[in-house]
Amino acid sequence: MLMFKERRPAIRTLRGWAISVLQDAGAIRECEEHAWLQDRADPHARDRAFDIAHRNPPAGVSPEAAAVAIGEVLDSIGDACPECPPEDVV
Ligand SMILES: [Zn+2]
Repeated sequence: MLMFKERRPAIRTLRGWAISVLQDAGAIRECEEHAWLQDRADPHARDRAFDIAHRNPPAGVSPEAAAVAIGEVLDSIGDACPECPPEDVV
């Protein structure tokens, strides 16, 4: 009776999972030209990402650890692509 199905093919890393959650929530995005991840500095999108992490952490990961992983990814991502020329500084 007790059967567990994997919802997704293995998540490579907790960080990879956190990045995908943040992208789904719209909290980060990839530079179209250079593929650098950028923090969109949207507090509502961040809230959504933390909410997803709490409610739906990866298998074997506690909601707290999932939320920490989200925070670590946000900490590690800047709000601008390092290779794009700044647009609003002329
Ligand atoms: Zn760029």
